[in-house]
Amino acid sequence: MTWWSKVLKNLISSHENERIDLFRTFPAFRRFLAARHHYAVLRTANDVIFILVILLGFFGPQQADRNIVIFLSWGLLWPGIVLSWFFLGRMWCGICPFPGLGVFLQKKGWSFSFKKPRSLQRYGVHVSVFFFALIIWAEIVAGLEHWPAGTSWLTLTIVLGAAIMAVFFPGQAWCQYLCPLGRISGAAATLSITEFRADHNKCRGCKTFACKRGKDGKMGCPVSLGAVSVKNNLQCLVCGHCLPLCDRDSPQFLVRNPYSELIRNKGRHITCSYIVPFLIGSQLARFIRHKEIYTDILNFFHVTDAVAFSLLLVIFFIFILGIIRAGARMFGITEDPVFGKFSPMVPILIPMAFTGELVYRMDFFAGGIGDFIPTFGRQFGIHFFERLAFTIPDFPIQIMSALFMVNGAIAGCYILWRFCLEDFEGMISLKGFIGINLLIFFLLLIYVIFIF
Ligand code: SF4
Ligand code: SF4
Repeated sequence: MTWWSKVLKNLISSHENERIDLFRTFPAFRRFLAARHHYAVLRTANDVIFILVILLGFFGPQQADRNIVIFLSWGLLWPGIVLSWFFLGRMWCGICPFPGLGVFLQKKGWSFSFKKPRSLQRYGVHVSVFFFALIIWAEIVAGLEHWPAGTSWLTLTIVLGAAIMAVFFPGQAWCQYLCPLGRISGAAATLSITEFRADHNKCRGCKTFACKRGKDGKMGCPVSLGAVSVKNNLQCLVCGHCLPLCDRDSPQFLVRNPYSELIRNKGRHITCSYIVPFLIGSQLARFIRHKEIYTDILNFFHVTDAVAFSLLLVIFFIFILGIIRAGARMFGITEDPVFGKFSPMVPILIPMAFTGELVYRMDFFAGGIGDFIPTFGRQFGIHFFERLAFTIPDFPIQIMSALFMVNGAIAGCYILWRFCLEDFEGMISLKGFIGINLLIFFLLLIYVIFIF
């Protein structure tokens, strides 16, 4: 069997044997991650770009078509991060510049290193999801997508949040508990086609647990996991920090069926239970905002954009919660004696939720890419760049977006189908099965109507 056939088998098979380890296939990739100085260079480059972007946002022109910060942040960086979730899990978090200032302060010894309180672990998820909701809301209501200084303020706030946490607690407590981007990245990483996992056969008998605890004065896993404890893609940053610490060559970077983890988790993680309805609800509110009907609503009710968008956000959030409830009722089982309570519609809707986010960001990218070089020219006085402007027509983007959404819907049906064939064989009624498929189709229809 060729390597490509094996990869394909890993991607579509529900069985987990003969996994492809990308560290073995591409040893240079493993070496790159393990050599921390390469990584440090990458992080430093990222930090420098980040600082430049913040400064340009604050001190550059404040019109969106005269400052590259807007497209760099919302049109390139954010869609790039969203796309990376599908292939590399939370790897972005490993090179993310947000914790840079905090790490610097810790290296200088300016950290109290207090023991992390239990409340951080217990309520961190709620706080981070709230922060995420706040960012999506502020992005539209405060017009961050068109306001360079606002974008810089948002970035700086997150950097300061991470730095304050680093001063109080050891490691990257912000990334682990409170970061809104980390939280959504973790939820999205559950449908990545790759996973970072230890080979537990090699870990057997290990006394050092260096991947978690560190060794020879070198710090262990920044999020207190270590390869040996990684069981899902929610928390591991795929930063490779534990690679040189392990002397048994245990960590692997495996290709997998992107839906297996969702099927295994069954929506038991509270992160996804909150994020999915909010994400889908907010996407519907954001899509409708670009339609003519939205202006009609504003004129008819004489309300401001901020009020109308906030109301739509709440309405669509409740609507998606209703779909999740209705689907769970049709599914018929929400508690299992072995793994406790779960939410079957959450894993079924996750592919649509994150594909919807990709589609929304792709739209922003397609709308701005043609004016990026001219914007650069306007900002730095190179008038010749004006001639390089181009526009991407809406229709091909809409078709591609609709196809992506169809793919997300098929993934939801596939997850339901595997539930019926595996863990819940013979337990879901035909009526329930058809009903959930219809719910998925109904949601797909709404997306497609809003996209066109
Ligand atoms: S990954 Fe390496 S260091 Fe961590 S427990 Fe396994 S063998 Fe030990
Ligand atoms: S388990 Fe390893 S790769 Fe994952 S976050 Fe910890 S150090 Fe990084």
